[in-house]
Amino acid sequence: TGSKTLVTAGEIVVEIMATEVGQTFMEPGSLVGPFPSGAPAIFIDQAARLGQRCGMIAAVGDDDFGALNVRRLELSGVDVSAIARLPGIPTGTAFVRYAADGGRAFVYNIPLSASGHIATTPEATALLARADHFHVMGSSLFSPAVVAVVEDAVRTVKARGGTVSFDPNIRREMLDLAGMREALSSVLASCDLFLPSGAELFLFTRAQDEAGAVAELSDRGIATVVLKKGAEGAVHYHRDGRTAFPAFPVREIDPTGAGDCFGAGFVCAWLRGAPPAECLQVANACGALAVGAKGPMAGTGTLADIRALIAANGEAGS
Ligand code: ATP
Ligand code: MG
Repeated sequence: TGSKTLVTAGEIVVEIMATEVGQTFMEPGSLVGPFPSGAPAIFIDQAARLGQRCGMIAAVGDDDFGALNVRRLELSGVDVSAIARLPGIPTGTAFVRYAADGGRAFVYNIPLSASGHIATTPEATALLARADHFHVMGSSLFSPAVVAVVEDAVRTVKARGGTVSFDPNIRREMLDLAGMREALSSVLASCDLFLPSGAELFLFTRAQDEAGAVAELSDRGIATVVLKKGAEGAVHYHRDGRTAFPAFPVREIDPTGAGDCFGAGFVCAWLRGAPPAECLQVANACGALAVGAKGPMAGTGTLADIRALIAANGEAGS
């Protein structure tokens, strides 16, 4: 789709999952993995599988976990030239277990992993020199090194006349991390397309109702807001109006990655100038395929998968 080049930056990790609901990490238990993961990695994998020209600025260790991630992204069509392989530092990891109430708990090694050591390398600079659009995952802004890379990329792409999208992808507790709120506010101020999920819409607004928050963001120069609503689909806000689009019916197997895949679907359609309803339809289809598959990247669909889902649902949403 389209001739524009989409770039993102941030963490690459392997995810290792407990197999039993209610399992703890306080005694031995069975685990499955490693799976390729990391929110910006899932996002860019989905974009590549939709045929978008795209690349990622990241770092992995010189180990199998790094190699498996790079191989996966390359196979999907991502430009991996700006993914550094750092000797002597491990690739990031995330161990996840599931509580009986559906909640998830993690043991992470990300800030101290290769992902905490990303930098604007010559390869990253070369990739950014070709970029028409940069996507920021708020959850990636966990360390000053990543914040510096992201802010530099946003400046570079905006200076070239490009556009920026921003998915906060964050929970309120993360706002207390040193520098996190400032970094998120700075990205928000320069984004063209804001993609919050649920209550994330209100993270940076005084208004705590949907219409009021959207108006406030619009006054601050954010042209387009797309609100993700899980099983209720998504809503697009722009000064030209409000467009809602229902979710595709799907059996939820693993919600990990739904928001990331949705974002990629939306941005790719938006970059080729598709109207709001079509952008939402593609995005909701990407989100639905993601929740229907187990494993963080297992649900990234190709253009053919997305078209098949849309065709199978006929008039849904139109
Ligand atoms: P994540 O947990 O990955 O951060 P998110 O909170 O950013 O996700 P959600 O609103 O949960 O975003 O999901 C993103 C999109 O995925 C939704 O807008 C919808 O299109 C699709 N989606 C999510 N859950 C479902 C579901 N149960 N059924 C159908 N579609 C879904
Ligand atoms: Mg999210």
